[in-house]
Amino acid sequence: MIGIVVVSHSPRLAQAAVDLALEMVGDGGPAIAIAAGAGEGVTGTDAVRVAEAIGEVSSPEGVLVLMDLGSAVMSAEMALEFVDDPEVPVRLAAAPFVEGLIAAVVSAAGGASLDDVEREARGALAAKTAHLGDDEQPEPSPEVGALGTAAGTAVSPAAEHTIEMTLLNPNGLHARPVAMLVKALAAFEATVTVAKVDSGRAPVPANSLTALLGVGAGQGDTISVAASGRQAAEALDAVRELVRDGFGELETAPQLATAPEQSATPADAGTPQAGQAHARPPIEVAASGPLGVSPGIAVGPIVRMPEPLEEPAEVPQISEDERPQAVVRIEAASVSVASALNDKAGRVSGPAREILEATALMAKDPGLIGDACARVTQQGQTPARAVWAAAGDIAAAFKEQGGLLAARIPDLHDVRNRVVAELLGRQAPGLPDRTEPYVLVARDLAPADTALIDPAVCRAIVTVEGGPTSHTAILARALGVPAVVAARHALDIDEGTVVIVDGTTGVIIDDPSDEQVAQAALKSNQVVAFDGTGRTKDGHRVQLLANVASPDSVAAAIEAKAEGVGLFRTEFCFLDSEEAPTVDEQVAAYRLVFAAFPGKKVIIRTLDAGADKPLAFVTADDEVNPALGIRGYRTAWRRPELLTTQLQAIATAAAAETADVGVMAPMIATVEESIQFAALCSEHGLRTAGVMIETPAAAMSAGDILQEVHFASLGTNDLAQYTMAADRLMGDLALLNDPWQPAVLRMISEAAQAGIATGKPVGVCGEAAADPLLAAILVGLGVTSLSMSPRALGGVSELLRSVTLEQCQEAAVAVVAAASSGRARALAAELLAPEALTPTQVA
Ligand code: PEP
Ligand code: MG
Repeated sequence: MIGIVVVSHSPRLAQAAVDLALEMVGDGGPAIAIAAGAGEGVTGTDAVRVAEAIGEVSSPEGVLVLMDLGSAVMSAEMALEFVDDPEVPVRLAAAPFVEGLIAAVVSAAGGASLDDVEREARGALAAKTAHLGDDEQPEPSPEVGALGTAAGTAVSPAAEHTIEMTLLNPNGLHARPVAMLVKALAAFEATVTVAKVDSGRAPVPANSLTALLGVGAGQGDTISVAASGRQAAEALDAVRELVRDGFGELETAPQLATAPEQSATPADAGTPQAGQAHARPPIEVAASGPLGVSPGIAVGPIVRMPEPLEEPAEVPQISEDERPQAVVRIEAASVSVASALNDKAGRVSGPAREILEATALMAKDPGLIGDACARVTQQGQTPARAVWAAAGDIAAAFKEQGGLLAARIPDLHDVRNRVVAELLGRQAPGLPDRTEPYVLVARDLAPADTALIDPAVCRAIVTVEGGPTSHTAILARALGVPAVVAARHALDIDEGTVVIVDGTTGVIIDDPSDEQVAQAALKSNQVVAFDGTGRTKDGHRVQLLANVASPDSVAAAIEAKAEGVGLFRTEFCFLDSEEAPTVDEQVAAYRLVFAAFPGKKVIIRTLDAGADKPLAFVTADDEVNPALGIRGYRTAWRRPELLTTQLQAIATAAAAETADVGVMAPMIATVEESIQFAALCSEHGLRTAGVMIETPAAAMSAGDILQEVHFASLGTNDLAQYTMAADRLMGDLALLNDPWQPAVLRMISEAAQAGIATGKPVGVCGEAAADPLLAAILVGLGVTSLSMSPRALGGVSELLRSVTLEQCQEAAVAVVAAASSGRARALAAELLAPEALTPTQVA
């Protein structure tokens, strides 16, 4: 039997809900553990206790976790990070707390599987919704309204036996009788349905508590019960007996009130006591249900990501007679793949074209194709096996050579997969090659695939796997593509079906009506607008600036009414350059950006080459650990002329335009570096010099650093990476690489306080500034400007306008003291945007 964990802010609420649920099943219910309260007498939730509770009721059949609201959801999600055992599936149920718990307990008591129990719990509001009428119905859950059928919709077995009976008990099929019915019928090998006679409604399955509640049969109503299967007759006998006995309610009042003496159940035995330590069994992290992880609404036809290819088997061998034909097939496949790649190359330009043309050449490479054909002719390998094996040998040789050749291995594998797919008559692996808008549906996406997504055609992403901090979610947010993860039924939707994807709520609607499409199209165009002045509700000014990567990205910043540029990443202008750009080339690029913001602030950053942003002409390729190597300002140690040339170019460009130009250096770690940089800027006539604070060293020395420069800007992407010792490129470390981590928030607070103490501006230009809630916390901590991707300006501005500076400050104090990133987020949401408190948004 599955185990159940109940997570609540209030121990009393949790205990009462559990007692009520156990009333429904009496003896023999599932093991239930409560994780409620945040310590003796303190309301709240605690992830460690949730993990302990999961351990208490751990069962190979699985564990279902039900939560009340807000931080309960956060704590439960965090608890999944603490436990890790592939043998025990654990699910967080997006279910109503009380109704969901009752439904879960009843179906678990009947021996239902984790899937079924979860479905029951999630659908547990159906009866109440139906009873209170259409006007009051909540938005359908994705499972009901979109991808699947609601728990308890009509299922009509080929009935062998049917009975009709009139209900005698005072309240008819209410919760307790229904629970008795479900439990009793679980003992029989029979499919049973129930319908209210003359109601005009279809029969519902009798193994579903929520479906039975929806029958709406009261005292005096007649129900029709149909059964099929080996024990159909016995099942009907059991129903007959229960109905005849009035479900034990004929002489007594309904027994729904808590009965204290019944609390000594197996479930109580599994309830962890406050402070009790348990060995934590490892538990598998399982997705809960469709989760919106990247906001926005999109409409489009579904295109499926092809399933990855499996290595073709070494056997069977092909006969001598078949070999010539097999060789011809390999050659034809290689030509066809090469020509498809060349076609694609013809549709793009620049480096993308060159890469595709090179890949096309590899597809026809005589070494690869010749070796594959030889394997067919000499060893009788199948064509697919031969290509796979030939590519494997070449990859091994590339690997041994290392350096640039080793870097080509992914391209070689890409070519191998395409040729093998062609030979097997399968769709080419990797992102679908489309020019028309579509919604991408995949089991999961590799970071490399997600990063290649073109937001102009891929309008939304839906994956079966993944969670809110998965790489798909992170990259989708970065691309601005709406995304829903953990949509377990997504692969059931036919290719080409038009869907509406809501990346905020997680709802997916397949085959929408014209009206729904029109509404969605309207909403998808509703970008929150920014009016060009950032301020809080009480008028405290916070400059809202744009991050730009090159002159090409300036238009979006202007269109979004950015107040200026808070981070101009100059290295992006020269990503493809083999040689260092000349002063003139640089002046031309910088002037384009300065000219776009006459009289306004533009903070230009000197080259931040290395690690995640390598530049051919400067980055050393022999570093073992590039993120901790010669990158950012440190490149000037080896190549001082690169920095001085750049400062010269910036000074020339600034003199030619009217923008209020500030210059800052990336990856500063010491006060000495700040002194040097300020002196160099001054030598070049650049009046406003600043530094980025993106190492813990700089954050802790911010007071001293700010004595030497005019301003500082917090690079929270790197600050999180270095504070948490978590590579920012690794999706697996997303949970650590999170600016909401209390340690990172404390680093930010240290730097912001230094800004207040020295009277110097301290802004934020990392991704943290683009998260509206976190932006308000940053303002509360004392930062003076926020710089972000232009599309984030509206949302940040909107939230800031809804809160006062004092609210931001109070929330900042609470959030910085939080014990976990989940708790920090939840606190911020509770204090600054309580109306937006839904699990998906808070997650
Ligand atoms: C940062 O680290 O937060 C930052 C803004 O710099 P980049 O992302 O370019 O490293
Ligand atoms: Mg950085």
